[in-house]
Amino acid sequence: MPNPNHVPLQAGLYLIATPIGTARDITLRALDLLLSADVLVAEDTRSLRRLMEIHGLPLGDRPMYSYHEHNGAQMRPRLMAAIGEGKSVLYASEAGTPMISDPGFDLARAAREAGYAVTSAPGPSAVITALTLAGLPTDRFMFAGFLPSAKGARRRALEEVSGVPATLVFYESPARVAAMLADAAEILGDREAALARELTKKFEEVRRGTLSELALSASEQPPKGEIVVLVDRRSEKISESVPELALKQRMQEMSIRDAVDLVAAETGLPRRKVYQMALEIERNG
Ligand code: SAM
Repeated sequence: MPNPNHVPLQAGLYLIATPIGTARDITLRALDLLLSADVLVAEDTRSLRRLMEIHGLPLGDRPMYSYHEHNGAQMRPRLMAAIGEGKSVLYASEAGTPMISDPGFDLARAAREAGYAVTSAPGPSAVITALTLAGLPTDRFMFAGFLPSAKGARRRALEEVSGVPATLVFYESPARVAAMLADAAEILGDREAALARELTKKFEEVRRGTLSELALSASEQPPKGEIVVLVDRRSEKISESVPELALKQRMQEMSIRDAVDLVAAETGLPRRKVYQMALEIERNG
């Protein structure tokens, strides 16, 4: 239940997380802040009004402003002035946690640089929810956000993260996910992966398999709604097959010694290990 007593809040910026599907995933603290902040700011004012209606929170005569990528520069001075006058300013994304593939970064930085208090009411985010359900290691993960939509740029971005020793997490649109999975299978190798969609909603689904299996499933049964793709780190087996291919190619172009030196330098693998690989390649013709 929201706090029935309107608690006056200290001046500052309050960044609150909102649900990514089920409205009741809002936290009690976020409800308190929504009830008490002097100024409400939202990436999408309609969604925030609707969320407040669902939870029976009156807006009263408090202002609610829209703040997004395109009007941030005009809105920031106005919001900073409000905090300067002693007001509590709350900011909410359309869904999930502000700044996670969403606006809010420049706003928080402006408030910090002006010396104002900045705090957050943490809560839902699709990246954490997907990690919780994917069945892939969570000891280390890298959130890579949305990949570029153009094929060439997307493939380059995948190459950049290929060697990261962590579970990779991407946000993706249903229109692009089949192509993204096919590119990922080719560039990252056929690793274990998961596609998590419509989390916390009626049609929540987690598909698991290798990248090529998921690419096939996405082209045969296109997943709808909001999607997170998670990819396991490179396994030793795959990580060895990539230098081996490079080594074979180099051995056709230069002496074994030079090829071994080059591939050892390029991959960071011990020279001795690369040399053994070269001998094996020679033995097998
Ligand atoms: N700030 C949000 C967060 O904390 O997760 C993310 C906003 S980003 C603009 C929207 C993307 O997040 C979607 O395209 C999708 O990739 C992912 N997403 C958001 N809600 C989701 C859900 N319920 N299920 C799966 N993915 C979701």
